[in-house]
Amino acid sequence: MTADLATAPRPAAPASSAATVLEFAGVTKRFGGARRGTTPFTAVSQLSFDVRAGEFVSIVGPSGCGKSTVLNLVAGLDRPSEGAIRLSGAEVAGPNMQVGFMLQKDLLLPWRTILRNVEFGLEARPIGREERRQRALRELDRCRLADFANHYPFQLSGGMRQRAALARTLAIQPDVVLLDEPFSALDAQTKLLLQRSFAQTIHASGVTTLLITHDLAEATAMSDRILVMSERPGRIVEEIAVDLPYRDDPIARQGTPRAREIIAHLFQSLHLAEREA
Ligand code: ADP
Ligand code: MG
Repeated sequence: MTADLATAPRPAAPASSAATVLEFAGVTKRFGGARRGTTPFTAVSQLSFDVRAGEFVSIVGPSGCGKSTVLNLVAGLDRPSEGAIRLSGAEVAGPNMQVGFMLQKDLLLPWRTILRNVEFGLEARPIGREERRQRALRELDRCRLADFANHYPFQLSGGMRQRAALARTLAIQPDVVLLDEPFSALDAQTKLLLQRSFAQTIHASGVTTLLITHDLAEATAMSDRILVMSERPGRIVEEIAVDLPYRDDPIARQGTPRAREIIAHLFQSLHLAEREA
């Protein structure tokens, strides 16, 4: 499993000239206040950032600062109260098929095999049966699950189920993949291996990715860029370019002195953000 790590090509991080895939322009989201007696509160405030094609961006911030809200807005499950979100040039106006959303829970259908689970995401699309199967098999192969195509979810470990969920997400060829703390329910060992597996698969597919995490080491090990959010109402208080090689090998990255510097800096930055809130 590690043999091909050393020889795999390692394209440089995407050039800053790469096209913008996702853009937040002055996005504020308020909840509540619609019914009498309820006071609205601001979940996130004035978020402006963009994510370029092929980039891997992480958002870190304290619990409740609006990280999941950001992803729901991208997926069109929520609408901004102010500002606009553009995905591949078009404003997000509701749930759409260009977004691949993966949560902490794998949400695989227990009565379907892994292959049929990966195909499931494609069934709502105008894609023929044969192409569906080909795409699903290709993603399972990329996620190193080809041998488990005909197994059921209960026959797989937690880490393998998350890989199957990633295969299902990538099979739809989304413009952006949204990952909401996908590793937080796993034990430390599984988490490290799965971070590496995800990093390799995402790097190989070249898909644009937005990861939410409260794990600073994970953000540093996996991303090209990190956005730091303050306590609620969440604002972006800092942006850090992760100037490290080997985005496809988070375990190698984590051990470097530069990675430790970035993690220490993030810790400080979040601590300050909490105190100032
Ligand atoms: P995080 O993911 O950073 O922990 P969330 O985005 O889940 O934070 O939530 C931010 C804040 O918005 C929280 O106070 C949460 O309770 C609130 N919130 C999230 N979704 C809704 C909703 N649909 N209706 C009302 N309040 C919500
Ligand atoms: Mg959350």
